[in-house]
Amino acid sequence: MLTTIIYRSRLCNSVAFKEIESMVAIANKNNELKNVTGILLFNGIHFFQLLEGPEKVVKEIYSTICEDERHYNVVELLCDYAPARHFGKAGMELFDLREYSKEKVLQAVLNQGTTRYQLAYNDRALQFFRSFVMGNYNANYFEIPPAESWLFVKDESSVSLSQPHGECTFAFQPIIDPLAGEIIAYEALVRTLSGRSPEEFFSAFEGDCVYKADLESKRTAFEMARMLPLKNKLLSINLMPMTLVKMPGAVDILLKDLAANQIVPEQVIVEFTENAVISNFDEFSAAVKALKYAGINVAIDHFGAGGGGLLLLSRFQPDRIKINRDLIENIHKSGPQQSILLSIIQCCRLLEIQISVVGVEKIEEWMWLESAGIEYFQGNLFAPASLNGLPAIAWPEKKTPF
Ligand code: C2E
Ligand code: MN
Repeated sequence: MLTTIIYRSRLCNSVAFKEIESMVAIANKNNELKNVTGILLFNGIHFFQLLEGPEKVVKEIYSTICEDERHYNVVELLCDYAPARHFGKAGMELFDLREYSKEKVLQAVLNQGTTRYQLAYNDRALQFFRSFVMGNYNANYFEIPPAESWLFVKDESSVSLSQPHGECTFAFQPIIDPLAGEIIAYEALVRTLSGRSPEEFFSAFEGDCVYKADLESKRTAFEMARMLPLKNKLLSINLMPMTLVKMPGAVDILLKDLAANQIVPEQVIVEFTENAVISNFDEFSAAVKALKYAGINVAIDHFGAGGGGLLLLSRFQPDRIKINRDLIENIHKSGPQQSILLSIIQCCRLLEIQISVVGVEKIEEWMWLESAGIEYFQGNLFAPASLNGLPAIAWPEKKTPF
């Protein structure tokens, strides 16, 4: 199937433009053999390339391009399918934008076009060209320094508690502001007594007993938080929305258990998973009122994973949202993920909703998210969840050049 990929990247400072010209000449020959055509724009700093041809070959060539050390911050902007090539003439023509005026280059590029119908000159691929040539969206293309420019230094914050009595235990994971060096909150994640996942813990219960287990487990979370001790940090707990609906007096029980452990309601964030909220919205709204009335903060967890995110946000604005790993994994390489995240950030800014991201594993993910304006992070890059205690936190430090 005829596939089009467009990406954007940045030339390494150490590479001369002459080198690029000879690289393109070689690539041209290879691409021609493989029936891949396209066009490459260079503006003195950035590349913008469109590749098109059979799906498998285009994807192979693209992954080789991603590995090329002469450029970095490679972001895929578009991957699409079309009945005919946009640029079928040249193997891979290189346009140095500095040699043309903006208006001329666009026409010159379009003159290379082989799109069958004039109509298709407005398709997404060509719109991306226009935007690159005109310099639109430059503000949203972040220059991420190489991952090696950071050093991660573990602190002494780990704490071990003895295993609690009862039916379950908890692992704790910090939510931090890495650049400010601050711990914002700890999330309590339920575990079986043998340390197994929440899924396994809940699978032992049938019917409404799940909600009872969910609610009662929180007493253990609060007891452990008191032992940590929590000090002035926030404590995030997860609840199924139906736990508040099905368990009579659930909010009062939570408040009583909090008071017994010297935790004030304002110190607590209750996280609800987006999917579960959407399917029980009316009941959820009533339960949330009671929580908010008591002073407890509310977060929507796994935001963006349930497909209902925007609709939910239009009906209910939580204090915080937590963005799921699915949306941020390899975000430094994906134009669509970046655009979605930037619009979520913009939306939450307008609504004064705090955002944190969960499941950050790579330095590049974290750096891209920081550049986009995210401040609060939770993930194995900094600290994995720690069973019966708190993990040490690896804080990023900028390496000083020699
Ligand atoms: P969650 O609330 O989004 O919690 C974060 C999950 O992501 C945790 O999995 C955590 O271990 C994992 N995680 C954190 N950083 C990373 C990372 O860098 N990479 C990867 N791959 N994973 C990371 P966990 O503990 O297995 O929890 C899974 C889900 O179970 C939670 O997702 C939450 O929705 C639910 N859950 C946990 N505890 C409770 C609870 O007490 N009650 C209820 N109802 N649900 C709970
Ligand atoms: Mn959570």
